[in-house]
Amino acid sequence: MISSKKQRIALISVHGDPAVEIGKEEAGGQNVYVRQVGEALAKRGLEVDMFTRKANKQDATVVEHSPNCRTIRLTAGPEEFIPRDNLYGYLPAFVEEFLKFQSSNGVEYPVVHTNYWLSSWVGMELKKVQPIKQVHTYHSLGAVKYKSIATIPMIATTRLAVEKTVLETADRIVATSPQEKKHMRELVSAKGNIDIIPCGTDIRRFGSVSKQEARHQLGIDSDTKVVLYVGRFDPRKGIETAVRAVGQSQLRGDAKFKLIIGGGSRAGQSDGKERERIEGIVSELGLSDLTVFPGRLGPNDLPTYYAAADVCVVPSHYEPFGLVAIEAMACGTPVVASDVGGLQFTVVPEETGLLCPPKNPAAFAGAIDRILANPDWGMQMGQAARKRVEMKFSWDGVAAQLSDLYTQLVQVPAQEVGPVSA
Ligand code: UDP
Repeated sequence: MISSKKQRIALISVHGDPAVEIGKEEAGGQNVYVRQVGEALAKRGLEVDMFTRKANKQDATVVEHSPNCRTIRLTAGPEEFIPRDNLYGYLPAFVEEFLKFQSSNGVEYPVVHTNYWLSSWVGMELKKVQPIKQVHTYHSLGAVKYKSIATIPMIATTRLAVEKTVLETADRIVATSPQEKKHMRELVSAKGNIDIIPCGTDIRRFGSVSKQEARHQLGIDSDTKVVLYVGRFDPRKGIETAVRAVGQSQLRGDAKFKLIIGGGSRAGQSDGKERERIEGIVSELGLSDLTVFPGRLGPNDLPTYYAAADVCVVPSHYEPFGLVAIEAMACGTPVVASDVGGLQFTVVPEETGLLCPPKNPAAFAGAIDRILANPDWGMQMGQAARKRVEMKFSWDGVAAQLSDLYTQLVQVPAQEVGPVSA
């Protein structure tokens, strides 16, 4: 329940600008999460300010998204793109700018919801000087990520320490899946209050186009088998696995077959290297004729692409949640995903899709073929997938749970509040 006086909330996302175009460079799930949560909270009557670092001189300092919901870009370091692993040194400037913004605008935020470890540090610093309640969402855990990459960055020790401190001291940690909570407990700390509140998706937009209409719009015949990937071009997203799986598919030779790899920036951007590598594998496997790279898909394209597909693949090496899976499911498309992290929560094997060991093209090929060879079963799973998203993963439902949490935190002294679902 929200009290009659408008509750003010700051969402802090230092490196994930909620107002930018999604799907290119480092912009992905976190940007979507912050923006959608912000707008859904505003619709519920909260005053929402989303703070991010200004990463481009041309960007506006304030962007109004809807009544009561805006993005505020603070200058902390050069106004240019800086990879997230190099941002730590600019955080004190971010804190200073945040405090300046508060005092010059005469606003206070009883609750600050921080996103990713960089922002968690900002929240912890603010807590030292203001009576705020901090809620934190990790989006990615260093302790998990560093297990799966070969070169550990210089910042790792700092990140791991910050992630432990915030778990132990934040007023509430929001895990987006039971799997993420388990990882926090096993790999970060046994202390701290954790609630599970999932990520969400727009169930009106995703699911608004029928398969037939989508195929018509994209010029794809009804008898073509369509496998879709959507996401950033980052080696950890496992696009290579999807491509090699299609290379091994038994059905590829004798049917009309299309692999669509959506996402990514134009050439010359930082994710271009991975795109070139993937294009190289596509041509090496002789898949160039059946593969298309439509580039970044905008909010209006996405529902059409998901609906047109017979299968959406999410082959990530690791995924704390994985928005793409629930977006595809909301469009009635079954998902073949890596058996990791949040994907184990969203995808129910044999009911809404299939799970495969990550980095295993043969397993992905088998799963994709099972669905493509049984279109009726695929459709049935797609319908069950849509139902699951309606029940569990709508932004409105997620925002309701978050705003209840914020209200609970501001109304009761911190030490008396126990976790809702820990
Ligand atoms: N996305 C998009 N256009 C694209 C590619 C991706 O809007 O061309 C969006 C996608 O719809 C999803 C988000 O980017 O909402 C990716 O989130 P996810 O959690 O799947 O992965 P992350 O990028 O956080 O690793």
